[in-house]
Amino acid sequence: MKKSMIALSISISMFLIACGNETNNPASTATNSNTMATMTADTAIEKTYDVKILDNKKDPTCGMPVTAGVSDTAHYKNKVIGFCATECKAEFLKNPEANIAAAELIK
Ligand SMILES: [Zn+2]
Repeated sequence: MKKSMIALSISISMFLIACGNETNNPASTATNSNTMATMTADTAIEKTYDVKILDNKKDPTCGMPVTAGVSDTAHYKNKVIGFCATECKAEFLKNPEANIAAAELIK
C-alpha cells in the first residue's frame, strides 16, 4: 500500500515537471491556432519548408513562386499548399474554392 502511494506521488511529480517544461517551451506558444497548419514538428525551428512537400507551384494569394520561400502552409483537399506569409494563407482560407486554381497544383 505504502509502496504504491510512493510510486503514485513520483509519477505525479514527473507529470508536473513535464507540464512545466511544456509551458516553458517558446515553440508551444508560437503554435498556430489554425488546425490546418499541421507542420507542428517544425515549429521549434525557423519556419521554412522544403518545396518538395508542397503541392502548389505558386502562392495562390500573391502569385509568388514557392521556390522563393514559404513561411506557412495549409492543407486543402489533401494537398499541402505553401504560402509566403501567414497573411497570404489567411486570405486564401477565406475562399479556398475560388483561389485554388491560382496555386497551380503539381499533382
Ligand atoms: Zn504570398
